Amino acid sequence: MPEIEAVLSDIAAEMAARADRGDVVTYIPQLGKVDPRKFGLTIAMVDGRVFCAGDADEAFSIQSISKVFTLTLALGKIGDSLWQRVGREPSGNPFNSIVQLEQERGIPRNPFINPGAIVVSDVLLAGHQPREAIGEILRFVQFLADDETVFIDHEVAASERATGFRNFALANYMRSFGNLEHAAELTLGVYFHHCAIAMTCRQLALAGRFLACDGRNPATGHSVVSAERARRINALMLTCGHYDGSGDFAFRVGISGKSGVGGGILGVVPGVASMAVWSPGLNAAGNSRLGSIALEKLAKAMNWSIFSP
Ligand code: GLU
Repeated sequence: MPEIEAVLSDIAAEMAARADRGDVVTYIPQLGKVDPRKFGLTIAMVDGRVFCAGDADEAFSIQSISKVFTLTLALGKIGDSLWQRVGREPSGNPFNSIVQLEQERGIPRNPFINPGAIVVSDVLLAGHQPREAIGEILRFVQFLADDETVFIDHEVAASERATGFRNFALANYMRSFGNLEHAAELTLGVYFHHCAIAMTCRQLALAGRFLACDGRNPATGHSVVSAERARRINALMLTCGHYDGSGDFAFRVGISGKSGVGGGILGVVPGVASMAVWSPGLNAAGNSRLGSIALEKLAKAMNWSIFSP
């Protein structure tokens, strides 16, 4: 097996030299200000070793990657009854698409597209004020990363709220089918704030380590979820974690992963490692262009795949 440090520094050097970085998202104006030349990568091995390259200690907006953590929390709260309100099928559609919601009577295809994550936020809001629900999500992510410096970027949340017309449409549309318990304004307050969580690659890779370790964080010894639930979250990340690019990511990279429009990707190879990559430019499906390429190269070089022993 090649030395992981050498593989990592080769990939970081190659990515730094590439010009085809994709476009930084602009529909959330605050994210349009991010420098597209940034690139960070962290690998957190299940044995405790952590390897970093590039801008791995710079915080970025994790956006939809937060949906992995909110799903985990919501399953902890209401268990499998969540699946009465959200499906588990890949959508084959963009992250913010509304078309399937009409055909499927307000039940989103999966918890990682926007409407699915909005329902998950609605579940986390039950019995709370939005501020409390947001605090609970942030504390959970800090607990997973074992790092209290993880924060919410309130300027990103405000920027998203100011321009989130489509998310308001999705929320109200689901409410018309009875699949949203709270007013769109309240539920989306929770949703926008968890999308605006800012983390470094190092923090994110560490926060995802429970998914590589059958639900247990080996650094803290905390059991986060059961082994069965960790496997199921990984299955959803593989099948639905990259929107209408999920099949291509599974084909090319062969590991479970969840992307966000901030240009981050959380990747998991159960029993081996969790990893986070950040490059703000996106491909046509709204996933980090160089981030996907970097993970493809890493998985190939290290011979990591969930389809091989
Ligand atoms: N907060 C973003 C939105 O609602 C998340 C999208 C993403 O990261 O894919 O549009």
